[in-house]
Amino acid sequence: MYDSAMPPQDSTLARPGTRILLRATKYDGTAHWIQPFRVRSDDGNLLVADYRARAPIFTSRGEFRSPYDSRVYFWRDRWYNVFRLSRPGADISLWYCNVTTPPLLEGCQLTYVDLDLDVAVRPDGLIQFLDEDEFEAHQRKYGYPEHVIEQAEKAALEVAELARQNAFPFCLR
Ligand SMILES: [Mg+2]
Repeated sequence: MYDSAMPPQDSTLARPGTRILLRATKYDGTAHWIQPFRVRSDDGNLLVADYRARAPIFTSRGEFRSPYDSRVYFWRDRWYNVFRLSRPGADISLWYCNVTTPPLLEGCQLTYVDLDLDVAVRPDGLIQFLDEDEFEAHQRKYGYPEHVIEQAEKAALEVAELARQNAFPFCLR
């Protein structure tokens, strides 16, 4: 279980070109989402990694192959990440932002707890808050502590505000 009173120590710096595996769990530790990436850059806080369309992703609902190439921005000190989705060879289709606990990289494994809330941002500027009902339900099911609920709600608003301002990484090219 994630304990924000004791932030996990993350001393691993990912090397460009290497592979990492994202292992997202739900709050009780059960597997939620496993996805392979290749590292593009890592400055110790922001880790940028790429996923190639059609590579297998393992989810709690079974195997899934995304039709989108994804460039993903993981900040070690933020409670969200941003997936920039585009069809191979095409312009960006969507930014998909997941509210999560801050990610932890250990070796070639990146982990965090998925906190249900998502924010979808379209290139035309439409911003949608998603899965608020799931977030409600999981607060009860998993007993999210108050500070986790607060951080998650704050994170959704924060990333939506970045998108509204077209701030990094919400740039069209
Ligand atoms: Mg969700």
